[in-house]
Amino acid sequence: MSELPIRDELRGIQAYGAPQLDVPVCLNVNENPFPPSEALVADAAAAVADAVRGLNRYPDREASELRAGLAAYLERESGVSLRPEQVWAANGSNEVMLQILQAFGGPGRVALSFAPTYSMYPEYARDTATTWVTAPRREDFTVDVDAALEAVATHRPSVVLVASPNNPTGTAVPLDLVRRLHDATEATRTVVVVDEAYAEFRRDGTPSALSLLAGHPRLVVTRTMSKAFAFAGARLGYAAASEEVVDALRVVRLPYHLSAVTQAVASAALRHADELQARVRQLRDERDRLAEWLRSTGLEVADSDANFLLFGRFSDRHAVWQGLLDRGVLIRETGPDGWLRVSVGTPDETAAFTAALTAVVGDGA
Ligand code: PMP
Repeated sequence: MSELPIRDELRGIQAYGAPQLDVPVCLNVNENPFPPSEALVADAAAAVADAVRGLNRYPDREASELRAGLAAYLERESGVSLRPEQVWAANGSNEVMLQILQAFGGPGRVALSFAPTYSMYPEYARDTATTWVTAPRREDFTVDVDAALEAVATHRPSVVLVASPNNPTGTAVPLDLVRRLHDATEATRTVVVVDEAYAEFRRDGTPSALSLLAGHPRLVVTRTMSKAFAFAGARLGYAAASEEVVDALRVVRLPYHLSAVTQAVASAALRHADELQARVRQLRDERDRLAEWLRSTGLEVADSDANFLLFGRFSDRHAVWQGLLDRGVLIRETGPDGWLRVSVGTPDETAAFTAALTAVVGDGA
């Protein structure tokens, strides 16, 4: 293997991903615990059958029906009216993010974010030969506006990535930060990306950055069907932006990147968005109950607008993580030292997690 002409920055690096273990309670990758309804299963199966009948042909390269459906969904969800040409779709928001860096990053360019944040961003940066830079968040994981503007002035990034709600902390940023990042980067024409993978779980009164798209032509808001839509296995992420930004992403996408089967199941899921929203409300309530319970045990919990909670602090977080795993509950050892992240599951999964954590902490971990 050492004979291969692999790029220097990839040499010796192992493929990364959260462990996929066969455990009774999986609360480690922020999935939605509720499987698709039988009504959606039937609708998606019929749509797939239809798509398969045409698989001798390449799919619609522009995914026109799907993008129109996503625009209509965003209008219902956030009240923001967008043309289908302002929406872009790809295989998960991971792929959208890679395309953003392919189009706007690259050698000699900088992508800036605020740490701790989503662990995949530096990988997209590495893979597109973009320099990766972070500025620290405050102790409570919020982003200080002045420090953010200073980091932008220092590093002159071509892309700024702000996850809101942020992974792994659950923290949402105020729109004022997004507006000011955009306005402060007029000279460098920086693309400001707000990653709203968890937006549907935001608490009442937390606005979506979609409302800033009009008048902010370098703003990109990314979303996914992996979380609120309970569709992680379908791999469908999307972005809303100006048509100019979408046109740049169209330049770097692979030919026919979104299969006809993916387009068909994603459009079927959109037809069931209303029933999925009831599950989202349930998960938000479950999150708030779990946060309250964790705090009642004396633990710290970061305020979360997402479907997961970052909690701590533990002197030996690995021992707590392992103790939970030994009891059949898989969570994630991620984020700043001393903290752990748990995804919000069904009420039964929450009960299994709280019982296991009580036992582990009682054991003195
Ligand atoms: N952004 C954030 C902040 C995430 O946490 C995730 C998934 N864990 C993604 C993007 C990617 O999601 P997907 O590729 O499944 O759309």
